[in-house]
Amino acid sequence: MRLTAIAGGTGAAKLLRGLAAAVPRSSLTVIGNTGDDAEIWGLHVSPDLDTVMYALAGRLDAARGWGLAGETFRCLEAMGDLGAETWFNLGDRDLATHLYRTRALREGRPLSAVTAELCRRLSVAARILPMSDEPVRTRVRTPDGWLSFQEYFVREKAQVQVLDVEYAGAPAARPAPGVLEAIRAAELVVVCPSNPVTSVGPVLAVPGIAEALAAARARVVAVSPIVGGAAVSGPAGELMRARGLTVSAVGVAAAYAPWLATLVMDRSDAPHAAELARRGVKAVLADILMTDRDREIALARVVLDSRGPVD
Ligand code: GDP
Repeated sequence: MRLTAIAGGTGAAKLLRGLAAAVPRSSLTVIGNTGDDAEIWGLHVSPDLDTVMYALAGRLDAARGWGLAGETFRCLEAMGDLGAETWFNLGDRDLATHLYRTRALREGRPLSAVTAELCRRLSVAARILPMSDEPVRTRVRTPDGWLSFQEYFVREKAQVQVLDVEYAGAPAARPAPGVLEAIRAAELVVVCPSNPVTSVGPVLAVPGIAEALAAARARVVAVSPIVGGAAVSGPAGELMRARGLTVSAVGVAAAYAPWLATLVMDRSDAPHAAELARRGVKAVLADILMTDRDREIALARVVLDSRGPVD
């Protein structure tokens, strides 16, 4: 089965590991968020692409949910000694990825080609496509002004009030090569349990992608990152509120209307099923907390089974 997934970082990585264990890896295409890409110490860092790539390479640090397992941070310390900013944690071996990517981009290669090369070098059989080769940058407006996503999320630890969110550059961005085709050719499209505003939102902001989802012959199935009235982790709740979405499975479905067919949500959210049905979204109840590998695979199987007959 050809499977195309839309992914952010940490939440997506867990489900993608499950999917990669349940289907042939070469049948999986991941469309990754680049809205939270950043330039750190002059290097192009793509946090979400790297989280997914390291997860599918079996190298992700499982406890942190980002970066490489067994990582050290000696360069970060040394940069601190030099008075450089050290709020963004770049590991020593992780730096190799950013050096490799930055050099290739400076030589004029597109991000999609560089990402494919990195995946090949790390023996990732799934295809990882950035949503766009052009820069799209998520920015968050706070009472003190606009912050880049990483300034908001990592430097400020998401502890500032969010008034608005924008995807700078999105109107002029084009989907990266292969993105629209992957949506069109898919037999199932999966929206990973990722932040609807800052992980999936930037992907949908690239002109053509939401339209392709609406026109897809495949069913689109999302896994909710929200249980009850709160995100499983991170600031998705606060960001959804800032965007006028209710923080619930219903709010997730609203963010993905009108092309969402099925929402896999927590069993405790069963009371929302009727409202989803009114909105034309089928609710599938499952255990959606992926606290270990077995649960990742079990949830992946629920997602695959929820495909149902293609109408
Ligand atoms: P980020 O770019 O690192 O923030 O990564 P994502 O956007 O992919 O993931 C963050 C989202 O994943 C948050 O909104 C969490 O609520 C959600 N999340 C994290 N772990 C889980 C999980 O085990 N199950 C579900 N359903 N959602 C999760």
